[in-house]
Amino acid sequence: PAPAEAAPPEARARWEELVEVLDAAQFAYYVRDAPTLSDAEYDARLRELEELEEAHPDLRVPDSPTQRVGGTFSTEFATVRHLQPMQSLDDVFSLDELREWAARVHAEAGSGDVAMTAELKIDGLAINLLYEHGRLVRAATRGDGRTGEDVTLNVRTIGSVPAQLAGTGHPASIEIRGEVFFPVAGFLELNASLVEAGKAPFANPRNSAAGSLRQKDPRVTASRPLDMIAHGVGALDWGAGGPERALTHQSELYDQLRDWGIPVSSHTRVVRSREELEEMIAYYGEHRHDVEHEIDGIVVKVDDFALQRRMGSTSRAPRWACAYKYPPEEVNTRLIDIRVNV
Ligand code: NAD
Repeated sequence: PAPAEAAPPEARARWEELVEVLDAAQFAYYVRDAPTLSDAEYDARLRELEELEEAHPDLRVPDSPTQRVGGTFSTEFATVRHLQPMQSLDDVFSLDELREWAARVHAEAGSGDVAMTAELKIDGLAINLLYEHGRLVRAATRGDGRTGEDVTLNVRTIGSVPAQLAGTGHPASIEIRGEVFFPVAGFLELNASLVEAGKAPFANPRNSAAGSLRQKDPRVTASRPLDMIAHGVGALDWGAGGPERALTHQSELYDQLRDWGIPVSSHTRVVRSREELEEMIAYYGEHRHDVEHEIDGIVVKVDDFALQRRMGSTSRAPRWACAYKYPPEEVNTRLIDIRVNV
């Protein structure tokens, strides 16, 4: 490609302004667990930055917020290097954008008939659980994607995370990735008790999950009703044993994890057509508050691992998955109204 023309000064100035705002928002969100922008405001600025870089490619530097996993870690915890980096997901904000993404999958597959998993996008915080020979040895937050925070002691207090995998045939080592979340009902109770004690309530269940997990004292974490649902794997080494038949599909992975006693979502479906996928999106758009945890979208993944490998990843996200984000709603207002009425 021809060398990109230098962006005009006003575009560069706007770029710098947006990066500064996004960096500050990320610090507030990931380190202080106290966001200063709404997610919709944050997403809109990130989108504007993407468009600016699309128009002026010389602005797209490797450490731009558009190119890296948007997190960081605090010095309060020991740091842990993930065996395999933890990525983010590319967002789509309309059915048209989702169809464009699906068209790229179909082009790569050479067919319009590709099975995909459609999953709830759990609004919690990402966790990396390292099991060696079936034993939980470490748990870490995503951090910047390469290095996270060691929260093993705190994760051990989450009842649904097994210290020892059930069943047999465990790999020598496996990174199980999932989402730690605060069930909505427990969140409302926690905020009511914080307010009663004269303390500041959490802005939303996601921040209460992050704040509860990232406690110096595991007893505080233990007192909170945190839960976890797995949605992927990182590094996987079967060791000497190895399964009789390798796992070949995302949906099969979930069955395997379930057999080992790892919580996986009961809402996940395997869809084979645009209609089925859009029906799921419409259903949970209407029923998002009937789910025990908050959701902010639907994650769609190519089911076949071979096709996932062929499609690969960018520096921040896989190409074989995307997150359809629901339009923002006034959740916080709604929750606060309920709390006041308690
Ligand atoms: P993301 O939350 O849009 O998506 C990636 C994450 O989704 C993964 O890391 C994973 O942990 C999670 N996830 C949930 N369910 C999943 C499933 N079924 N399968 C796979 N992954 C699943 O991206 P991000 O990089 O984690 O965070 C960016 C988002 O965080 C923004 O879009 C914004 O909404 C929010 N944010 C807000 C602020 C703010 O100031 N309000 C600041 C930073 C980030």
